[in-house]
Amino acid sequence: MGAAHDERLRLALSRAIKSFRSNINDALKKFPHTIKLAEEVRGIKEKAIGEMEKLSQQACEAIEANKGKAYIAGTPEEALSIIAGLVGRQKLIVKGKSMTSEEIGLREHLEKQGNEVYETDLGEFIIQQMASKPMHILSPAIHVPREDVARLFTKVLGQEFSSDAEIATLVSAARDFLRDKFFRADVGISGANVVAAETGTLFIIENEGNIRLTTGAPPVHIALVGMEKLVSTLNDAYKVSEVTWRYANYTVPSYVSLVSGPSKTGDIEKVTTYGAHGPKEFHVIFLDGGRTELAKHTLLRQALYCLRCGGCLYECPVFAVTAGHFGDKYFTGIGAVWAAIISKDIEKAASLAYTCLTCGRCKERCPVKIDVPEMVIELRRLIADDERPK
Ligand code: SF4
Repeated sequence: MGAAHDERLRLALSRAIKSFRSNINDALKKFPHTIKLAEEVRGIKEKAIGEMEKLSQQACEAIEANKGKAYIAGTPEEALSIIAGLVGRQKLIVKGKSMTSEEIGLREHLEKQGNEVYETDLGEFIIQQMASKPMHILSPAIHVPREDVARLFTKVLGQEFSSDAEIATLVSAARDFLRDKFFRADVGISGANVVAAETGTLFIIENEGNIRLTTGAPPVHIALVGMEKLVSTLNDAYKVSEVTWRYANYTVPSYVSLVSGPSKTGDIEKVTTYGAHGPKEFHVIFLDGGRTELAKHTLLRQALYCLRCGGCLYECPVFAVTAGHFGDKYFTGIGAVWAAIISKDIEKAASLAYTCLTCGRCKERCPVKIDVPEMVIELRRLIADDERPK
């Protein structure tokens, strides 16, 4: 299975795991308050998940007051239909990495509608061009060595790259290729790491700068956000963001974008006019897609507390030899819960739940102490008793 039979992939993974562990330990030493803050964030998430519906209504009102448009999609199909309606056909679209868009197959859907869509996160761009699937929630191309990237870029970018090309050369080629797309794009699509309901503000954490361009250069910005990303206040959102980036191994991220509405100016006669240098239109779609159902389950609701920092993946002994094959849309034991309730794929959920060793190393690393073994054992029980969560 996956990396288990591929020596090069195993090497790529073991290097990534070693480097993550040493970096995260250094980051926590440098910013020791993060551990206490993470405990607070657990409380923030528990409260927010209990009031997701109220928070999504509040966020929609705030976004509309900011002259954006907000929507609540009950199902993935509804979300796809809203976005497809906003985008139209034959459009050029640039897109930031988003697990929620992966969950509903957004890129593929828009391509089928006749649009040209480019993933702009470098790892995700590589995966798109390889027609492959992400192997990690934050580093989707974690399993692709530089020699393979050089071969791929020779094929898709129309330039020759030797197999020993410097990584900086490959990054620069992708930069040149995508730069043109950012400025010609009709629409930019992003997700969000956290949303403050009181102001309707999206917090988006990144290092590459592709999110700044995706959400700033095209005339239309559409954000697709899972309802579990909502918290009550700006202050809560900041706390969740800091814990997320620290455990995601960013230590200090290059960029955190806060987006609350379309671009505006009041520089001429103090008259507020929309569409200055940034997008003229701002649309946010909050996706339920089974989240409010999941929130009702006493144990399994913990899956909604996940910050998607990816830290647990580096601790998981099964992930270390299988990479993203131990998962579906989301990976490892938590991916089993997601497959059962959000994707409603019980076969996949069962195979993941019974592959998990329930060793609990993920819980130790998790900033919000999600008890994955406890959830996996409960899921096995529900599947065995045919009480599968509907
Ligand atoms: S389960 Fe915890 S460690 Fe894993 S991605 Fe979510 S928040 Fe991070």
